[in-house]
Amino acid sequence: MAKRVVLLGGGVGGSMVSNQMARQLKSEILAGEVEITVINESDEHVYQPYFLYMAFDQAVPADAKRSERLVLHHLVKLVVGQADRVDCEQSAVLMADGSKIAYDFLVIATGSRPAPETVPGLVEGGHIFYTEEGALKLRDALHDFKGGRVVITVGVPHKCPVAPVEFTLMVRDWLNTHGMEDSEVLYTYPIGRLHSLEPVANWAVKVFEDRNIQSRTFFNAESVDPQKQTVTSLEGDTVKYDLLVAIPPHTGQEVIKRSEFGDAGGWIPTNRHSLQMEGHDNIYVLGDATNLPISKAGSTAHFEADVVASNLVSRLRGGLGSVRYDGKVFCFIETGNDEATYIKFDYQNPPRPQTPSELIHLYKLAFNKMYWLSAAGIL
Ligand SMILES: Cc1cc2nc3c(=O)[nH]c(=O)nc-3n(C[C@H](O)[C@H](O)[C@H](O)COP(=O)(O)OP(=O)(O)OC[C@H]3O[C@@H](n4cnc5c(N)ncnc54)[C@H](O)[C@@H]3O)c2cc1C
Repeated sequence: MAKRVVLLGGGVGGSMVSNQMARQLKSEILAGEVEITVINESDEHVYQPYFLYMAFDQAVPADAKRSERLVLHHLVKLVVGQADRVDCEQSAVLMADGSKIAYDFLVIATGSRPAPETVPGLVEGGHIFYTEEGALKLRDALHDFKGGRVVITVGVPHKCPVAPVEFTLMVRDWLNTHGMEDSEVLYTYPIGRLHSLEPVANWAVKVFEDRNIQSRTFFNAESVDPQKQTVTSLEGDTVKYDLLVAIPPHTGQEVIKRSEFGDAGGWIPTNRHSLQMEGHDNIYVLGDATNLPISKAGSTAHFEADVVASNLVSRLRGGLGSVRYDGKVFCFIETGNDEATYIKFDYQNPPRPQTPSELIHLYKLAFNKMYWLSAAGIL
């Protein structure tokens, strides 16, 4: 009987693992010895970084979406449907429609979810560009904006460690180039510096100063009053806004909570090197779904996918699967003015933001297009 590898979640991490495995195990799949199945709740594969550009009318939804079937290798099976929970006793994923998908190895890559409902008034009073719908609403609001104070309030944890900083620098640029130089930009962050990654926080101090961007730290948004247009923090600070943009705290997906896998936030306890779920030899976790103390980013999922795919291929062929993840993350940072920088770091080495340049910005734009090749395993 074929060994069944099931990938729960066909986003960045799930598609990369399945495609890499399918390429390497082609003969075993064709011989009926291995079967690879991706479960994804829709037939749409979404490249979320485009949402940032959509907010500034620099991209449209079609740029960010492809058919999941077309992204996956032709030897990978795709089940489009919602997983209700994972039952480890039965080694099966129980689907919301009542069906059951059994596995020998399970890879969980269900991502994360912004939870704006945790801040009362935020859904009504603020904008969230972390979804397609939210990015388009914000695009329209920016288009109609007549000037005033733009407040960007950040909650943790959230995916893409630098997207809030990117948005802040890009909106400053947008205001300057759309005749609203006098408008104020205020960035708030929940801890005592501008970013959880200290080198990025230090780098941002000077950049914000140079661009006349105000900031408040120790600001955990607790509630929004859409009528008064104010946001109030847990620490008792209240700020007025004309346009509020929030990056709300994220949680793990409901399927993880229903499976009783996650911690309080719905993040799965994961071994930081082997990427196996703690206590489960045949379950791997990658991407945003882990509880690892590293940034939740597409690049994290990408580097982790190399490790998971390599170890699973090894184990399916009788090896031990000994490749280790070193915590590597790489993120571009759009800095406005058609420039960008980047950071690269791992468990041992902190990030060191480089001087922004137009070349890095162009590379980031090119990478956005190349993503479709890398998701398909061609790059
Ligand atoms: C605005 C924005 C900008 C970003 N910019 C960058 C960037 O520049 N660089 C970078 O590295 N990262 C960036 N990211 C972050 C990046 O998109 C995520 O970290 C990455 O997608 C995580 O990959 P993943 O595989 O863990 O989850 P995802 O790619 O989110 O995939 C999860 C998949 O699981 C599926 N799923 C969930 N629950 C179920 C269920 N119950 N049943 C079936 N399927 C399910 C979902 O439909 C989805 O397809 C950005 C994100 C945003 C929102």
